[in-house]
Amino acid sequence: MKQILSVHKAPEKHWVGDGFPVRTVLHPKTDGASPFLLLDYAEPIRFEPSDEPRGVEEHPHRGFETVTIVFQGELEHRDSAGNQGKLGPGDVQWMTAASGVVHEEKHGADFTRIGGTFEVAQLWVNLPAAQKMTPPAYQELGNKSIPVAEISGGGSARVIAGDFNRTRGPAKTVIPVFLWDVSLPAGSRLDLPAPSGCSAIVFARSGSVRLNDNEEAAGLELAVFAVDGDGVDVEALEDSKLLVLGGEPIDEPVVAHGPFVMNTFDEIRQAVADYQNGVMGTLAVR
Ligand code: MN
Repeated sequence: MKQILSVHKAPEKHWVGDGFPVRTVLHPKTDGASPFLLLDYAEPIRFEPSDEPRGVEEHPHRGFETVTIVFQGELEHRDSAGNQGKLGPGDVQWMTAASGVVHEEKHGADFTRIGGTFEVAQLWVNLPAAQKMTPPAYQELGNKSIPVAEISGGGSARVIAGDFNRTRGPAKTVIPVFLWDVSLPAGSRLDLPAPSGCSAIVFARSGSVRLNDNEEAAGLELAVFAVDGDGVDVEALEDSKLLVLGGEPIDEPVVAHGPFVMNTFDEIRQAVADYQNGVMGTLAVR
């Protein structure tokens, strides 16, 4: 089995733009989390009706992928590569920023007008040096395209990426990555199929679980496991919602500067200059 490296409590929330009250539960300095750079989680929050969509104005990314999972509410996205999308509950957007994308992330128009409960997560997946400057790509993974694997002891897993037992997620990933949205009822057990050679992370959105008959992770806690070893034993102490992720670690230097994650400071300086010079494109005026 994989050993537990650490269990982190989520820090206080901060606002990203005026639309995303997030807790940064994983960041580039989290030991053992490669290839993941960041996990921001906005727990369920009620937004009142508004005239103007809340969110984040136009900004760039280079050197990695952003994966946005909508649990509740509605998001609208548009970017300099010409992609435009609306995401509702269960939908996932997998954006490979790679050489550079400028985008805006806003609440959806209907959600803005009517208000409601909002819950999202955004994951940043690093890219190997050889893929950081490739052209951007964009995958919209609708709720219906994401298969649900039943768990024998009770519960289910929405398989967004990678293989969960024999169920394969729709995301095309640059390096081997798995990402599962798991619901486990109290008392059920699950042997997570997290292979040796991949990192593994369990984030409890809600509920609480016992891991490897040893440590507990309650709501808003994140556990990081060793790359060596095969599988993680999870026992739900309460009805629990988990985000489970892992992937092949990228053993390269990480220089993270705001929306850019490269291998060297020179590459960061180049990214800033390229953005300022419009090399990453711009958004069409509405
Ligand atoms: Mn962004």
